[in-house]
Amino acid sequence: MKNISVAIDGPAGAGKSTVAKAVAKNMDLLYIDTGAMYRAVTYLVLKEGLDLTEEQKIINIAKNTTFNFSKDGSEIFINGENCSKEIRTPEVSEKVSLVSKIGALRTILVNAQQKLAKNHDVIMDGRDIGTHVLPQAELKIFLTASVNERATRRFEELSKDKPSANISFDAVKNNIIERDNIDSNRDQAPLIKAEDAIEIDTTSLTTVEVVEKIIKLIAKIHR
Ligand code: C5P
Repeated sequence: MKNISVAIDGPAGAGKSTVAKAVAKNMDLLYIDTGAMYRAVTYLVLKEGLDLTEEQKIINIAKNTTFNFSKDGSEIFINGENCSKEIRTPEVSEKVSLVSKIGALRTILVNAQQKLAKNHDVIMDGRDIGTHVLPQAELKIFLTASVNERATRRFEELSKDKPSANISFDAVKNNIIERDNIDSNRDQAPLIKAEDAIEIDTTSLTTVEVVEKIIKLIAKIHR
């Protein structure tokens, strides 16, 4: 039987990974967090002290790195090392969209994502999944929410993860606005709703409501 593939795209903080993880668990799909891969490369770029203009060196990092995910997709291993926390720091969030603009880097990561998805029932989240990575996906969801709601969710998540980190709401909101702007206006594979994607505005929905909606949509296709 043909594998199921579900693409979830949308702006920063719309709840893509929370929802995708829950749908994956419920429907026994492989969850792939593509944002974690762009974050992983950015983490390595910062660790090596590279300047963002050193594109060839950044591309080489991506070429020479292996990415693996834990079974539920929530942890990422960079060359075998669990770096799930390190990729979510404010420093990585600040630079990740600039790194993600590099076209040749995207080509490498898209190939790796397509390879990870091969021969599996998958749900993959990112910015260009429905348009570039899995254009053949049977179900494409474009998840949105108001910018205030997205910033509130991300702020609460970060404050819970690291209560000592003195993060400001405005800094989180500005980072979301800036990343959306760069992600939507880059040349290669910008953040855009695929023509055949179903848009779900999650501003006033709970996670459970969004998950149920998506499960119903998948069930409809695979009746
Ligand atoms: O999903 P997350 O917010 O962790 O993604 C971090 C960044 O990675 C995004 O802001 C974007 O710049 C980049 N990204 C991308 N394409 C994807 C997934 C993420 O450019 N498919």
